[in-house]
Amino acid sequence: MKRLSILGSTGSIGTQTLDVVRHHPDLQVTALAAGKNVSKLEEQIREFRPRLAALADEADARDLRARVKDLDVTVVSGMDGLIEAASFKDADMTVTAIVGMIGIQPTIAAIRAGKDIALANKETLVTAGHLIMPLARECGVKILPVDSEHSAIFQSLNGENYDRIEKLLLTCSGGPFRGRSLDDLEAVTVEDALKHPNWSMGPKITVDSATLVNKGLEVMEAGWLFGVDCDRIEVVVQPQSVIHSAVQFVDGAVIAQMGTPDMRLPIQYALFWPDRRGMDTERLDLFALRHLTFERPDTSVFRGLPLAVRAMKEGGSMPTVFNAANEKAVRKFLKGEIAFMDIYRIIESCMDAHTVLPDPDVPAILEVEKEVYAEIDRL
Ligand code: NDP
Repeated sequence: MKRLSILGSTGSIGTQTLDVVRHHPDLQVTALAAGKNVSKLEEQIREFRPRLAALADEADARDLRARVKDLDVTVVSGMDGLIEAASFKDADMTVTAIVGMIGIQPTIAAIRAGKDIALANKETLVTAGHLIMPLARECGVKILPVDSEHSAIFQSLNGENYDRIEKLLLTCSGGPFRGRSLDDLEAVTVEDALKHPNWSMGPKITVDSATLVNKGLEVMEAGWLFGVDCDRIEVVVQPQSVIHSAVQFVDGAVIAQMGTPDMRLPIQYALFWPDRRGMDTERLDLFALRHLTFERPDTSVFRGLPLAVRAMKEGGSMPTVFNAANEKAVRKFLKGEIAFMDIYRIIESCMDAHTVLPDPDVPAILEVEKEVYAEIDRL
């Protein structure tokens, strides 16, 4: 029996994780954490019977307590509640499926409590990878990637020596605006940005996929997970989303993981690694597919990628600036307050204004996040 704490259970990755749990009687849910969706969390508590549930606000937690008073579940709230869920004593593994830098503190708490991490929350690794990776080694916990590209790389590295990696080939669908010009992008709407061609995901990552900021975050995430610098991570646009990523080794061999786009596969792989369980998912039909195509990303239009590479090279607190500026800009874009291309302008202006702190601890990272938000409010 593997016991799970799932942070962000009401979101896209969270609900798909619970779908994997439904198919495996040897997975048990012991803690669930969500933001504001009280009704969905109540439904999940009734179905999966966790011992602990957490919500962002105390008022919502009070509402939930009243709704589930017939069940044996403790309802907690706020950052303390999220940390309690992340490090819950009855859990073996914590699935980090919340969105944004709010994942840093609970992820660190889970690692300190000795929980293996199934990591979807890439923003945490991007901003605090220099703290999280050594801490995980020190505490003897595994960080298992859920992101499909990183899972593909992890699967391609099975049984291989990481020192023999020549480069990582990180694939990218290109998002809904692939092939568009700078002028085209000035006028795109929120609705256009939320139409991802191949994957159904939460709103923030869907916008990040349209800007290629997501791919930039993934380059940084891959750097931390596999110990490879950004000069050896090549982004390859693969519009069919069939090759989920690949590794090129020092002898020229390229090993890739392929499949139909279904996030439940990398989620399940992380939950059961090193085992590989059966899954009732659509099989890849190579004859129906007939061809696979590849393109270079257009970095003159989709500046999310070069800005991320710059943040990774400058290091220290700069990835936090890149990420925090993007989080706030995407929230503003989703509310209709700024245009799509303003996302890049905001990220770049925050990066230009920042003086890098070389090795920020968690309070310093959170302070930089606050400063970036304040700066955007002043713009
Ligand atoms: P969603 O927006 O669909 O879900 C976010 C989850 O986080 C929801 O359960 C939300 O709760 C919860 N949440 C938000 N704020 C808080 C808070 N303050 N306290 C506790 N929970 C909170 O996001 P996704 O599932 O798309 O993405 C989650 C993470 O996984 C992101 O980092 C993303 O980059 C990464 N990822 C996602 C993929 C995907 O296919 N979706 C693929 C690879 C990585 P509520 O809804 O109740 O407010």
